[in-house]
Amino acid sequence: MTQIFDNPADFADEALDGFVAANRGYVARVDGGVVRSTEVSQGQVAVVIGGGSGHYPAFAGLVGPGLATASACGNMFASPAAGQVYRVAKAANAGGGVLLSYGNYAGDVLHFGQAQLRLNAEGIETRTVLVTDDIASAPQDQLEKRRGIAGDLTVFKIAGAAAEAGMSLDDVERLAIKANYRTRSLGVAFDGCTLPGAAEPLFHVPEGHMSLGLGIHGEPGISDHPMPTASELAELLVGKLLEDKPDNAGDRVVAVVNGLGTVKYDELFLLFGKIDALLTKAGLTVVEPECGELVTSLDMSGLSLTLFWLDEELEQLWAAPANTPAFRKGSMSPRVLRRAELLEASSEAEQEATTPAATELGALAVAVLEEVRATIEEHEESLGKLDAIAGDGDHGIGMRRGVEAAAAAALAKPGAGVGRVLEAAGEAWSEKAGGTSGALWGSAIIAAGQALGNRDGYTREDAAAAVRAFTDAITNLGKAEEGDKTMVDALLPFRDTFLKEFDAGAPADVALEVAAAAASAAAGATASLRPLKGRARPLAEKSLGHPDPGAVSFGLIAERISAFISSNHIISTRAAQVPEGAQA
Ligand code: ADP
Ligand code: MG
Repeated sequence: MTQIFDNPADFADEALDGFVAANRGYVARVDGGVVRSTEVSQGQVAVVIGGGSGHYPAFAGLVGPGLATASACGNMFASPAAGQVYRVAKAANAGGGVLLSYGNYAGDVLHFGQAQLRLNAEGIETRTVLVTDDIASAPQDQLEKRRGIAGDLTVFKIAGAAAEAGMSLDDVERLAIKANYRTRSLGVAFDGCTLPGAAEPLFHVPEGHMSLGLGIHGEPGISDHPMPTASELAELLVGKLLEDKPDNAGDRVVAVVNGLGTVKYDELFLLFGKIDALLTKAGLTVVEPECGELVTSLDMSGLSLTLFWLDEELEQLWAAPANTPAFRKGSMSPRVLRRAELLEASSEAEQEATTPAATELGALAVAVLEEVRATIEEHEESLGKLDAIAGDGDHGIGMRRGVEAAAAAALAKPGAGVGRVLEAAGEAWSEKAGGTSGALWGSAIIAAGQALGNRDGYTREDAAAAVRAFTDAITNLGKAEEGDKTMVDALLPFRDTFLKEFDAGAPADVALEVAAAAASAAAGATASLRPLKGRARPLAEKSLGHPDPGAVSFGLIAERISAFISSNHIISTRAAQVPEGAQA
Protein backbone atom coordinates (compact mmCIF):
# COMPACT_ATOMS: atom_id res chain seq x y z
CA MET A 1 0.00 0.00 0.00
CA THR A 2 1.31 3.46 -0.87
CA GLN A 3 0.42 5.92 1.87
CA ILE A 4 2.48 9.05 1.45
CA PHE A 5 0.88 11.52 -0.96
CA ASP A 6 -1.32 14.61 -1.07
CA ASN A 7 -3.19 13.83 -4.25
CA PRO A 8 -2.70 10.36 -5.75
CA ALA A 9 -3.04 11.80 -9.28
CA ASP A 10 0.16 13.82 -8.69
CA PHE A 11 2.08 10.92 -7.18
CA ALA A 12 4.47 10.16 -10.06
CA ASP A 13 5.30 13.81 -10.72
CA GLU A 14 5.84 14.74 -7.09
CA ALA A 15 7.91 11.64 -6.40
CA LEU A 16 10.12 12.56 -9.36
CA ASP A 17 10.49 16.16 -8.14
CA GLY A 18 11.61 14.86 -4.75
CA PHE A 19 13.97 12.36 -6.33
CA VAL A 20 15.64 15.19 -8.25
CA ALA A 21 15.84 17.34 -5.10
CA ALA A 22 17.62 14.47 -3.36
CA ASN A 23 20.01 13.85 -6.27
CA ARG A 24 20.92 17.22 -7.78
CA GLY A 25 24.50 16.13 -8.28
CA TYR A 26 23.23 13.49 -10.70
CA VAL A 27 20.04 14.62 -12.35
CA ALA A 28 18.10 17.69 -13.41
CA ARG A 29 14.39 17.84 -14.13
CA VAL A 30 13.25 18.49 -17.68
CA ASP A 31 9.74 18.44 -19.04
CA GLY A 32 8.93 14.73 -19.27
CA GLY A 33 11.67 13.23 -17.11
CA VAL A 34 15.24 13.74 -15.95
CA VAL A 35 18.57 14.31 -17.65
CA ARG A 36 22.10 14.09 -16.24
CA SER A 37 23.00 17.28 -14.41
CA THR A 38 26.69 16.71 -15.13
CA GLU A 39 28.50 17.45 -18.36
CA VAL A 40 28.39 14.94 -21.18
CA SER A 41 31.31 14.95 -23.64
CA GLN A 42 30.45 16.51 -26.96
CA GLY A 43 29.70 13.86 -29.57
CA GLN A 44 28.84 11.17 -27.04
CA VAL A 45 25.83 8.99 -27.84
CA ALA A 46 22.88 9.86 -25.58
CA VAL A 47 21.34 6.74 -24.05
CA VAL A 48 17.75 7.65 -23.29
CA ILE A 49 15.81 5.12 -21.25
CA GLY A 50 12.38 5.28 -19.71
CA GLY A 51 8.96 3.88 -19.09
CA GLY A 52 6.21 4.12 -16.53
CA SER A 53 6.86 5.26 -12.98
CA GLY A 54 6.60 2.84 -10.06
CA HIS A 55 9.65 0.77 -11.03
CA TYR A 56 12.40 2.63 -9.12
CA PRO A 57 15.37 2.52 -9.57
CA ALA A 58 14.19 2.02 -13.12
CA PHE A 59 14.24 4.35 -14.73
CA ALA A 60 15.32 7.72 -13.31
CA GLY A 61 17.63 6.11 -10.73
CA LEU A 62 19.83 4.74 -13.51
CA VAL A 63 20.81 8.11 -14.97
CA GLY A 64 24.44 9.09 -14.49
CA PRO A 65 27.95 8.75 -15.96
CA GLY A 66 28.56 5.23 -17.29
CA LEU A 67 24.87 4.49 -17.54
CA ALA A 68 21.88 6.38 -18.99
CA THR A 69 22.06 9.99 -20.15
CA ALA A 70 18.41 10.68 -19.44
CA SER A 71 15.14 9.03 -18.60
CA ALA A 72 11.63 9.78 -19.82
CA CYS A 73 9.25 9.12 -16.94
CA GLY A 74 5.57 8.38 -17.49
CA ASN A 75 2.75 8.20 -15.01
CA MET A 76 2.40 5.19 -12.70
CA PHE A 77 2.89 2.07 -14.87
CA ALA A 78 2.09 4.13 -17.98
CA SER A 79 4.36 4.97 -20.89
CA PRO A 80 5.67 8.51 -21.09
CA ALA A 81 3.94 10.36 -23.93
CA ALA A 82 5.79 10.80 -27.21
CA GLY A 83 6.26 14.52 -26.61
CA GLN A 84 7.89 13.82 -23.26
CA VAL A 85 10.29 11.29 -24.74
CA TYR A 86 11.08 13.74 -27.52
CA ARG A 87 11.84 16.63 -25.15
CA VAL A 88 13.93 14.47 -22.83
CA ALA A 89 15.93 13.11 -25.77
CA LYS A 90 16.51 16.61 -27.10
CA ALA A 91 17.81 17.73 -23.73
CA ALA A 92 20.09 14.66 -23.60
CA ASN A 93 21.45 14.92 -27.14
CA ALA A 94 25.15 15.77 -27.14
CA GLY A 95 25.63 15.58 -30.90
CA GLY A 96 26.41 11.85 -31.12
CA GLY A 97 22.88 10.63 -31.82
CA VAL A 98 20.36 9.05 -29.49
CA LEU A 99 19.77 5.44 -28.50
CA LEU A 100 16.30 4.86 -27.07
CA SER A 101 16.09 1.76 -24.90
CA TYR A 102 13.12 0.54 -22.89
CA GLY A 103 11.05 -2.53 -22.09
CA ASN A 104 8.92 -4.02 -24.86
CA TYR A 105 5.36 -2.89 -24.06
CA ALA A 106 2.86 -1.77 -26.71
CA GLY A 107 2.31 1.72 -25.23
CA ASP A 108 6.03 2.42 -24.85
CA VAL A 109 6.76 1.15 -28.35
CA LEU A 110 4.22 3.55 -29.83
CA HIS A 111 5.26 6.61 -27.85
CA PHE A 112 9.02 6.12 -28.05
CA GLY A 113 8.57 5.17 -31.71
CA GLN A 114 6.74 8.39 -32.40
CA ALA A 115 9.47 10.38 -30.63
CA GLN A 116 12.08 8.57 -32.73
CA LEU A 117 10.34 9.58 -35.96
CA ARG A 118 10.30 13.20 -34.84
CA LEU A 119 13.94 13.21 -33.74
CA ASN A 120 15.09 11.62 -36.99
CA ALA A 121 12.97 14.08 -38.98
CA GLU A 122 14.86 16.87 -37.23
CA GLY A 123 18.21 15.38 -38.09
CA ILE A 124 19.00 13.91 -34.65
CA GLU A 125 19.91 10.35 -35.56
CA THR A 126 17.94 8.08 -33.27
CA ARG A 127 17.81 4.29 -32.94
CA THR A 128 15.90 1.93 -30.66
CA VAL A 129 16.84 -1.23 -28.79
CA LEU A 130 13.95 -2.93 -27.01
CA VAL A 131 14.52 -4.99 -23.89
CA THR A 132 12.88 -8.42 -24.24
CA ASP A 133 14.32 -10.54 -21.43
CA ASP A 134 11.21 -12.09 -19.81
CA ILE A 135 11.22 -15.73 -20.86
CA ALA A 136 7.70 -16.24 -19.44
CA SER A 137 6.09 -13.85 -21.90
CA ALA A 138 6.70 -15.69 -25.20
CA PRO A 139 8.51 -18.82 -26.40
CA GLN A 140 12.14 -18.76 -27.44
CA ASP A 141 11.35 -18.67 -31.16
CA GLN A 142 9.44 -15.40 -30.61
CA LEU A 143 12.04 -13.39 -28.73
CA GLU A 144 10.74 -10.17 -30.25
CA LYS A 145 7.39 -10.66 -28.52
CA ARG A 146 8.90 -10.95 -25.05
CA ARG A 147 8.43 -8.09 -22.63
CA GLY A 148 11.21 -6.35 -20.72
CA ILE A 149 11.69 -6.76 -16.96
CA ALA A 150 14.86 -6.70 -14.84
CA GLY A 151 16.99 -7.22 -17.94
CA ASP A 152 16.56 -3.48 -18.45
CA LEU A 153 19.55 -3.09 -16.15
CA THR A 154 22.05 -5.15 -18.13
CA VAL A 155 21.03 -3.73 -21.49
CA PHE A 156 21.10 -0.12 -20.25
CA LYS A 157 24.42 -0.71 -18.51
CA ILE A 158 26.08 -2.05 -21.66
CA ALA A 159 24.69 0.77 -23.82
CA GLY A 160 25.71 3.37 -21.22
CA ALA A 161 29.24 2.00 -20.86
CA ALA A 162 29.67 1.85 -24.63
CA ALA A 163 28.50 5.47 -24.97
CA GLU A 164 30.80 6.54 -22.13
CA ALA A 165 33.71 4.88 -23.94
CA GLY A 166 33.03 7.19 -26.88
CA MET A 167 31.74 4.50 -29.24
CA SER A 168 29.65 5.42 -32.27
CA LEU A 169 25.86 5.11 -32.41
CA ASP A 170 26.27 2.02 -34.63
CA ASP A 171 28.43 0.33 -32.00
CA VAL A 172 26.29 1.35 -29.04
CA GLU A 173 23.24 -0.03 -30.85
CA ARG A 174 24.99 -3.26 -31.85
CA LEU A 175 26.21 -3.90 -28.30
CA ALA A 176 22.83 -3.15 -26.76
CA ILE A 177 21.17 -5.58 -29.17
CA LYS A 178 23.73 -8.23 -28.27
CA ALA A 179 23.30 -7.57 -24.52
CA ASN A 180 19.55 -7.90 -24.87
CA TYR A 181 19.86 -11.17 -26.80
CA ARG A 182 22.12 -12.56 -24.07
CA THR A 183 19.91 -11.45 -21.17
CA ARG A 184 17.15 -13.78 -19.90
CA SER A 185 14.95 -13.28 -16.85
CA LEU A 186 12.18 -15.04 -15.01
CA GLY A 187 10.15 -13.65 -12.14
CA VAL A 188 7.79 -14.87 -9.46
CA ALA A 189 5.18 -13.01 -7.43
CA PHE A 190 3.77 -13.80 -4.01
CA ASP A 191 1.31 -10.91 -3.85
CA GLY A 192 0.03 -7.99 -5.93
CA CYS A 193 0.86 -4.29 -5.88
CA THR A 194 -1.40 -1.32 -5.25
CA LEU A 195 -1.39 1.95 -7.19
CA PRO A 196 -1.27 5.09 -5.02
CA GLY A 197 -4.79 5.97 -3.89
CA ALA A 198 -6.27 2.61 -4.95
CA ALA A 199 -8.13 0.63 -2.31
CA GLU A 200 -7.27 -2.78 -3.74
CA PRO A 201 -4.14 -4.33 -5.27
CA LEU A 202 -4.12 -4.62 -9.07
CA PHE A 203 -4.20 -8.40 -8.67
CA HIS A 204 -3.86 -11.10 -6.03
CA VAL A 205 -1.83 -14.26 -5.89
CA PRO A 206 -3.77 -17.00 -4.09
CA GLU A 207 -2.79 -17.33 -0.41
CA GLY A 208 0.16 -19.69 0.18
CA HIS A 209 0.96 -19.67 -3.54
CA MET A 210 3.45 -18.19 -5.92
CA SER A 211 2.77 -17.15 -9.50
CA LEU A 212 5.55 -18.00 -11.94
CA GLY A 213 6.29 -15.56 -14.75
CA LEU A 214 3.84 -12.88 -13.69
CA GLY A 215 4.64 -9.52 -15.34
CA ILE A 216 5.77 -6.40 -13.49
CA HIS A 217 2.34 -4.80 -14.00
CA GLY A 218 0.42 -7.91 -13.00
CA GLU A 219 0.21 -9.41 -16.49
CA PRO A 220 -0.82 -13.07 -16.12
CA GLY A 221 1.95 -15.58 -15.38
CA ILE A 222 2.58 -19.08 -16.69
CA SER A 223 1.41 -21.08 -13.69
CA ASP A 224 0.58 -20.91 -9.99
CA HIS A 225 2.54 -23.10 -7.56
CA PRO A 226 2.29 -23.84 -3.84
CA MET A 227 4.90 -21.68 -2.07
CA PRO A 228 8.26 -23.48 -2.49
CA THR A 229 11.25 -23.52 -0.14
CA ALA A 230 14.16 -21.21 -1.03
CA SER A 231 16.15 -24.13 -2.43
CA GLU A 232 13.22 -25.24 -4.59
CA LEU A 233 12.69 -21.69 -5.83
CA ALA A 234 16.39 -21.34 -6.72
CA GLU A 235 16.26 -24.61 -8.64
CA LEU A 236 13.11 -23.64 -10.50
CA LEU A 237 14.47 -20.25 -11.62
CA VAL A 238 17.96 -21.50 -12.51
CA GLY A 239 16.56 -24.59 -14.26
CA LYS A 240 14.14 -22.64 -16.48
CA LEU A 241 16.73 -19.99 -17.36
CA LEU A 242 19.37 -22.56 -18.27
CA GLU A 243 16.84 -24.19 -20.60
CA ASP A 244 16.45 -20.83 -22.33
CA LYS A 245 20.18 -20.16 -22.89
CA PRO A 246 21.03 -18.01 -25.94
CA ASP A 247 23.20 -19.43 -28.72
CA ASN A 248 26.96 -19.25 -27.98
CA ALA A 249 26.21 -18.49 -24.34
CA GLY A 250 29.69 -19.38 -23.04
CA ASP A 251 30.29 -20.09 -19.37
CA ARG A 252 30.65 -16.64 -17.82
CA VAL A 253 27.42 -15.21 -16.57
CA VAL A 254 26.19 -12.21 -14.56
CA ALA A 255 23.42 -13.20 -12.16
CA VAL A 256 20.99 -10.50 -11.00
CA VAL A 257 18.58 -11.29 -8.20
CA ASN A 258 16.05 -8.47 -8.23
CA GLY A 259 13.52 -7.66 -5.52
CA LEU A 260 10.20 -6.38 -6.87
CA GLY A 261 9.29 -4.19 -3.93
CA THR A 262 8.62 -5.81 -0.58
CA VAL A 263 10.92 -8.82 -0.38
CA LYS A 264 13.58 -8.12 2.28
CA TYR A 265 17.23 -7.88 1.27
CA ASP A 266 18.02 -10.70 3.71
CA GLU A 267 15.64 -12.98 1.81
CA LEU A 268 17.12 -11.92 -1.54
CA PHE A 269 20.64 -12.68 -0.25
CA LEU A 270 19.55 -16.05 1.11
CA LEU A 271 18.16 -16.94 -2.31
CA PHE A 272 21.19 -15.51 -4.10
CA GLY A 273 23.48 -17.85 -2.16
CA LYS A 274 21.56 -20.85 -3.40
CA ILE A 275 21.42 -19.58 -6.98
CA ASP A 276 25.16 -18.88 -6.97
CA ALA A 277 25.84 -22.44 -5.80
CA LEU A 278 23.59 -23.94 -8.48
CA LEU A 279 25.20 -21.92 -11.26
CA THR A 280 28.67 -22.88 -10.05
CA LYS A 281 27.61 -26.51 -9.92
CA ALA A 282 26.45 -26.21 -13.53
CA GLY A 283 30.04 -25.32 -14.48
CA LEU A 284 29.44 -21.59 -14.84
CA THR A 285 31.49 -18.70 -13.49
CA VAL A 286 29.35 -16.02 -11.86
CA VAL A 287 30.82 -12.61 -12.76
CA GLU A 288 30.16 -9.36 -10.83
CA PRO A 289 26.59 -10.22 -9.81
CA GLU A 290 23.93 -7.92 -8.38
CA CYS A 291 21.47 -8.62 -5.62
CA GLY A 292 18.93 -5.98 -4.58
CA GLU A 293 16.13 -3.81 -5.89
CA LEU A 294 16.87 -2.87 -9.49
CA VAL A 295 13.57 -2.91 -11.36
CA THR A 296 10.63 -2.92 -8.95
CA SER A 297 6.89 -2.92 -9.24
CA LEU A 298 5.61 -0.61 -6.47
CA ASP A 299 4.95 -2.75 -3.40
CA MET A 300 4.73 -6.03 -5.25
CA SER A 301 5.91 -9.02 -3.31
CA GLY A 302 8.08 -10.95 -5.69
CA LEU A 303 11.49 -11.24 -7.26
CA SER A 304 13.22 -12.20 -10.46
CA LEU A 305 16.43 -13.82 -11.57
CA THR A 306 18.28 -12.50 -14.61
CA LEU A 307 21.16 -14.29 -16.29
CA PHE A 308 23.31 -12.17 -18.57
CA TRP A 309 25.64 -14.28 -20.67
CA LEU A 310 28.94 -12.47 -21.21
CA ASP A 311 31.45 -12.50 -24.00
CA GLU A 312 34.71 -10.60 -23.91
CA GLU A 313 33.47 -7.19 -25.01
CA LEU A 314 30.31 -7.39 -22.93
CA GLU A 315 32.29 -8.36 -19.84
CA GLN A 316 34.53 -5.31 -20.22
CA LEU A 317 31.54 -3.01 -20.52
CA TRP A 318 29.67 -4.65 -17.65
CA ALA A 319 32.74 -4.15 -15.43
CA ALA A 320 33.20 -0.50 -16.46
CA PRO A 321 32.51 2.09 -13.74
CA ALA A 322 29.13 3.76 -13.41
CA ASN A 323 27.85 6.31 -10.97
CA THR A 324 24.11 6.91 -10.73
CA PRO A 325 21.75 7.56 -7.81
CA ALA A 326 20.86 3.87 -7.55
CA PHE A 327 23.67 1.98 -9.28
CA ARG A 328 27.35 2.49 -8.55
CA LYS A 329 30.26 0.42 -9.75
CA GLY A 330 34.01 1.04 -9.57
CA SER A 331 35.17 4.62 -9.24
CA MET A 332 34.64 7.48 -11.63
CA SER A 333 36.30 10.86 -11.73
CA PRO A 334 33.97 13.61 -10.47
CA ARG A 335 31.98 15.38 -13.18
CA VAL A 336 31.42 19.08 -13.66
CA LEU A 337 27.81 20.23 -13.42
CA ARG A 338 26.20 21.17 -16.73
CA ARG A 339 25.27 24.79 -17.15
CA ALA A 340 21.59 25.27 -16.36
CA GLU A 341 20.97 27.43 -19.47
CA LEU A 342 21.93 24.51 -21.66
CA LEU A 343 19.13 22.42 -20.21
CA GLU A 344 16.62 25.21 -20.53
CA ALA A 345 17.61 26.06 -24.07
CA SER A 346 17.24 22.47 -25.17
CA SER A 347 13.78 22.06 -23.74
CA GLU A 348 12.37 25.18 -25.32
CA ALA A 349 10.83 24.86 -28.74
CA GLU A 350 12.29 27.26 -31.25
CA GLN A 351 9.89 29.92 -32.40
CA GLU A 352 10.01 30.87 -36.01
CA ALA A 353 8.59 34.06 -37.43
CA THR A 354 5.27 33.54 -39.19
CA THR A 355 3.84 35.67 -42.00
CA PRO A 356 0.16 36.84 -42.03
CA ALA A 357 -0.67 34.38 -44.85
CA ALA A 358 0.86 31.49 -42.89
CA THR A 359 -1.05 32.56 -39.80
CA GLU A 360 -4.30 32.54 -41.75
CA LEU A 361 -3.63 28.99 -42.91
CA GLY A 362 -2.77 28.04 -39.33
CA ALA A 363 -6.19 29.31 -38.25
CA LEU A 364 -7.74 27.13 -40.93
CA ALA A 365 -5.95 24.09 -39.47
CA VAL A 366 -7.46 25.00 -36.09
CA ALA A 367 -10.91 25.12 -37.69
CA VAL A 368 -10.41 21.70 -39.27
CA LEU A 369 -9.42 20.24 -35.89
CA GLU A 370 -12.56 21.77 -34.44
CA GLU A 371 -14.59 19.87 -37.05
CA VAL A 372 -12.82 16.65 -36.13
CA ARG A 373 -13.66 17.28 -32.49
CA ALA A 374 -17.33 17.81 -33.31
CA THR A 375 -17.46 14.57 -35.34
CA ILE A 376 -15.96 12.53 -32.55
CA GLU A 377 -18.27 14.03 -29.95
CA GLU A 378 -21.27 13.14 -32.08
CA HIS A 379 -20.13 9.54 -32.44
CA GLU A 380 -18.38 8.98 -29.13
CA GLU A 381 -20.99 6.60 -27.78
CA SER A 382 -21.36 4.46 -30.89
CA LEU A 383 -17.56 4.18 -31.27
CA GLY A 384 -17.30 3.06 -27.65
CA LYS A 385 -20.00 0.43 -28.17
CA LEU A 386 -18.28 -0.84 -31.29
CA ASP A 387 -14.97 -1.17 -29.43
CA ALA A 388 -16.73 -2.98 -26.57
CA ILE A 389 -17.76 -5.85 -28.87
CA ALA A 390 -14.26 -7.27 -29.12
CA GLY A 391 -11.99 -4.58 -27.61
CA ASP A 392 -12.02 -2.71 -24.33
CA GLY A 393 -14.75 -0.19 -25.13
CA ASP A 394 -12.60 2.91 -24.80
CA HIS A 395 -12.31 3.98 -28.43
CA GLY A 396 -14.99 6.67 -28.12
CA ILE A 397 -13.72 8.17 -24.90
CA GLY A 398 -10.08 7.84 -25.95
CA MET A 399 -10.68 9.61 -29.26
CA ARG A 400 -12.66 12.33 -27.50
CA ARG A 401 -9.94 12.95 -24.91
CA GLY A 402 -7.35 13.05 -27.67
CA VAL A 403 -9.20 15.35 -30.01
CA GLU A 404 -10.31 17.72 -27.26
CA ALA A 405 -6.72 18.09 -26.10
CA ALA A 406 -5.59 18.52 -29.70
CA ALA A 407 -8.16 21.21 -30.46
CA ALA A 408 -7.29 23.03 -27.23
CA ALA A 409 -3.55 22.86 -27.93
CA ALA A 410 -4.13 24.16 -31.44
CA LEU A 411 -6.18 27.07 -30.12
CA ALA A 412 -3.39 27.88 -27.69
CA LYS A 413 -1.07 28.65 -30.62
CA PRO A 414 -2.59 31.82 -32.04
CA GLY A 415 -0.57 33.21 -34.89
CA ALA A 416 1.16 29.92 -35.63
CA GLY A 417 1.40 28.36 -39.08
CA VAL A 418 -0.06 24.99 -40.09
CA GLY A 419 3.02 23.01 -39.09
CA ARG A 420 3.19 24.35 -35.55
CA VAL A 421 -0.56 24.06 -35.04
CA LEU A 422 -0.57 20.43 -36.14
CA GLU A 423 2.55 19.52 -34.16
CA ALA A 424 1.06 20.95 -30.97
CA ALA A 425 -2.26 19.25 -31.69
CA GLY A 426 -0.71 15.86 -32.42
CA GLU A 427 1.46 15.98 -29.34
CA ALA A 428 -1.52 16.82 -27.13
CA TRP A 429 -3.62 14.13 -28.78
CA SER A 430 -1.18 11.33 -28.07
CA GLU A 431 -0.44 12.63 -24.58
CA LYS A 432 -4.06 12.78 -23.47
CA ALA A 433 -5.83 10.04 -25.45
CA GLY A 434 -4.18 6.97 -24.01
CA GLY A 435 -4.74 3.83 -26.04
CA THR A 436 -3.27 2.69 -29.30
CA SER A 437 -5.32 4.89 -31.55
CA GLY A 438 -4.26 8.03 -29.63
CA ALA A 439 -0.57 7.40 -30.21
CA LEU A 440 -1.21 6.67 -33.89
CA TRP A 441 -3.41 9.70 -34.51
CA GLY A 442 -1.02 11.94 -32.60
CA SER A 443 2.01 10.90 -34.58
CA ALA A 444 0.17 11.03 -37.89
CA ILE A 445 -0.96 14.60 -37.25
CA ILE A 446 2.57 15.60 -36.25
CA ALA A 447 3.94 13.97 -39.39
CA ALA A 448 1.42 15.78 -41.59
CA GLY A 449 2.34 19.04 -39.82
CA GLN A 450 6.02 18.46 -40.45
CA ALA A 451 5.34 17.70 -44.11
CA LEU A 452 3.31 20.89 -44.52
CA GLY A 453 5.56 23.23 -42.52
CA ASN A 454 4.54 26.83 -41.81
CA ARG A 455 4.28 28.11 -45.35
CA ASP A 456 2.26 30.94 -46.92
CA GLY A 457 0.47 28.68 -49.35
CA TYR A 458 0.24 25.05 -50.43
CA THR A 459 0.17 23.27 -53.75
CA ARG A 460 -1.56 20.03 -54.72
CA GLU A 461 1.82 18.32 -54.31
CA ASP A 462 1.96 19.51 -50.71
CA ALA A 463 -1.44 17.97 -50.05
CA ALA A 464 -0.27 14.67 -51.51
CA ALA A 465 2.91 14.77 -49.41
CA ALA A 466 0.86 15.39 -46.26
CA VAL A 467 -1.44 12.44 -47.04
CA ARG A 468 1.61 10.24 -47.56
CA ALA A 469 3.29 11.41 -44.35
CA PHE A 470 0.09 10.88 -42.35
CA THR A 471 -0.27 7.32 -43.67
CA ASP A 472 3.39 6.40 -43.28
CA ALA A 473 3.43 7.53 -39.66
CA ILE A 474 0.59 5.14 -38.85
CA THR A 475 1.93 2.17 -40.73
CA ASN A 476 5.51 2.69 -39.55
CA LEU A 477 4.50 2.94 -35.92
CA GLY A 478 1.62 0.48 -35.73
CA LYS A 479 3.08 -2.02 -38.23
CA ALA A 480 -0.42 -3.19 -39.14
CA GLU A 481 -1.00 -4.42 -42.67
CA GLU A 482 -4.02 -4.35 -44.91
CA GLY A 483 -6.45 -7.03 -43.73
CA ASP A 484 -5.37 -6.98 -40.07
CA LYS A 485 -8.67 -5.24 -39.29
CA THR A 486 -7.41 -1.90 -38.02
CA MET A 487 -7.77 1.70 -39.11
CA VAL A 488 -5.14 0.93 -41.74
CA ASP A 489 -7.87 -0.87 -43.71
CA ALA A 490 -9.61 2.48 -44.20
CA LEU A 491 -6.44 4.54 -44.34
CA LEU A 492 -4.73 2.78 -47.26
CA PRO A 493 -7.80 2.96 -49.57
CA PHE A 494 -8.03 6.63 -48.57
CA ARG A 495 -4.41 7.32 -49.52
CA ASP A 496 -4.50 5.26 -52.71
CA THR A 497 -7.73 6.85 -53.93
CA PHE A 498 -6.47 10.32 -53.12
CA LEU A 499 -3.22 9.79 -55.00
CA LYS A 500 -5.00 8.18 -57.96
CA GLU A 501 -7.41 11.10 -58.30
CA PHE A 502 -4.52 13.42 -57.89
CA ASP A 503 -2.50 11.75 -60.65
CA ALA A 504 -5.56 12.02 -62.88
CA GLY A 505 -5.45 15.77 -62.34
CA ALA A 506 -8.33 16.22 -59.88
CA PRO A 507 -8.18 19.29 -57.64
CA ALA A 508 -7.32 18.47 -54.02
CA ASP A 509 -10.86 19.02 -52.72
CA VAL A 510 -12.31 16.61 -55.27
CA ALA A 511 -9.57 14.05 -54.58
CA LEU A 512 -10.36 14.38 -50.88
CA GLU A 513 -14.07 13.86 -51.41
CA VAL A 514 -13.61 10.69 -53.44
CA ALA A 515 -10.94 9.40 -51.03
CA ALA A 516 -13.14 10.03 -47.96
CA ALA A 517 -15.98 8.06 -49.54
CA ALA A 518 -13.55 5.22 -50.27
CA ALA A 519 -12.37 5.29 -46.63
CA SER A 520 -15.93 5.00 -45.29
CA ALA A 521 -16.77 2.17 -47.64
CA ALA A 522 -13.58 0.33 -46.69
CA ALA A 523 -14.29 0.89 -42.99
CA GLY A 524 -17.71 -0.73 -43.41
CA ALA A 525 -16.12 -3.63 -45.25
CA THR A 526 -13.84 -4.43 -42.29
CA ALA A 527 -16.90 -6.15 -40.74
CA SER A 528 -15.98 -9.32 -42.61
CA LEU A 529 -12.37 -9.35 -41.35
CA ARG A 530 -10.82 -10.99 -38.30
CA PRO A 531 -8.60 -8.70 -36.18
CA LEU A 532 -4.91 -9.64 -36.26
CA LYS A 533 -3.52 -6.61 -34.40
CA GLY A 534 -4.44 -4.65 -31.29
CA ARG A 535 -6.53 -5.51 -28.33
CA ALA A 536 -9.34 -7.09 -30.34
CA ARG A 537 -7.06 -9.93 -31.49
CA PRO A 538 -7.85 -12.35 -28.63
CA LEU A 539 -11.59 -11.92 -29.30
CA ALA A 540 -11.41 -12.35 -33.07
CA GLU A 541 -14.59 -14.40 -33.35
CA LYS A 542 -16.74 -11.85 -31.57
CA SER A 543 -15.53 -9.13 -33.87
CA LEU A 544 -16.71 -10.89 -37.06
CA GLY A 545 -19.71 -9.10 -38.54
CA HIS A 546 -18.80 -5.75 -36.94
CA PRO A 547 -16.55 -3.12 -38.47
CA ASP A 548 -13.31 -2.07 -36.80
CA PRO A 549 -13.84 0.97 -34.56
CA GLY A 550 -10.60 2.69 -35.56
CA ALA A 551 -11.42 2.27 -39.26
CA VAL A 552 -14.93 3.62 -38.69
CA SER A 553 -13.72 6.71 -36.83
CA PHE A 554 -11.16 7.37 -39.54
CA GLY A 555 -13.87 7.20 -42.22
CA LEU A 556 -16.11 9.58 -40.25
CA ILE A 557 -13.30 12.08 -39.78
CA ALA A 558 -12.25 11.96 -43.44
CA GLU A 559 -15.85 12.57 -44.58
CA ARG A 560 -16.31 15.45 -42.17
CA ILE A 561 -13.10 17.21 -43.19
CA SER A 562 -13.97 16.78 -46.85
CA ALA A 563 -17.47 18.20 -46.33
CA PHE A 564 -16.07 21.15 -44.38
CA ILE A 565 -13.52 21.95 -47.06
CA SER A 566 -15.98 21.70 -49.96
CA SER A 567 -18.79 23.62 -48.28
CA ASN A 568 -16.46 26.46 -47.39
CA HIS A 569 -14.78 26.40 -50.82
CA ILE A 570 -11.49 26.43 -48.99
CA ILE A 571 -9.26 24.80 -51.52
CA SER A 572 -10.77 26.37 -54.63
CA THR A 573 -10.69 29.85 -53.07
CA ARG A 574 -7.04 29.36 -52.20
CA ALA A 575 -6.28 28.14 -55.73
CA ALA A 576 -7.75 31.36 -57.12
CA GLN A 577 -5.38 33.34 -54.88
CA VAL A 578 -2.24 31.77 -56.28
CA PRO A 579 0.02 34.69 -57.29
CA GLU A 580 0.23 35.57 -60.96
CA GLY A 581 2.74 33.58 -62.91
CA ALA A 582 2.39 30.55 -60.66
CA GLN A 583 0.36 27.51 -61.77
CA ALA A 584 -3.35 27.77 -60.99
P1 ADP B 1 -6.84 0.48 -27.56
O1 ADP B 1 -6.76 -0.58 -28.60
O2 ADP B 1 -5.52 0.76 -26.93
O3 ADP B 1 -7.97 0.27 -26.61
P2 ADP B 1 -8.52 2.34 -29.03
O4 ADP B 1 -9.67 1.55 -28.54
O5 ADP B 1 -8.62 3.82 -28.90
O6 ADP B 1 -7.16 1.84 -28.39
O7 ADP B 1 -8.32 2.07 -30.57
C1 ADP B 1 -8.59 0.83 -31.13
C2 ADP B 1 -8.31 0.92 -32.62
O8 ADP B 1 -6.93 1.16 -32.82
C3 ADP B 1 -8.60 -0.34 -33.37
O9 ADP B 1 -9.97 -0.41 -33.73
C4 ADP B 1 -7.70 -0.24 -34.57
O10 ADP B 1 -8.32 0.41 -35.65
C5 ADP B 1 -6.59 0.65 -34.09
N1 ADP B 1 -5.35 -0.12 -33.95
C6 ADP B 1 -4.97 -0.96 -32.96
N2 ADP B 1 -3.74 -1.43 -33.18
C7 ADP B 1 -3.31 -0.87 -34.34
C8 ADP B 1 -2.12 -0.95 -35.14
N3 ADP B 1 -1.09 -1.69 -34.75
N4 ADP B 1 -2.04 -0.23 -36.28
C9 ADP B 1 -3.09 0.55 -36.67
N5 ADP B 1 -4.23 0.66 -35.97
C10 ADP B 1 -4.34 -0.04 -34.84
MG1 MG C 1 -9.97 0.23 -27.11
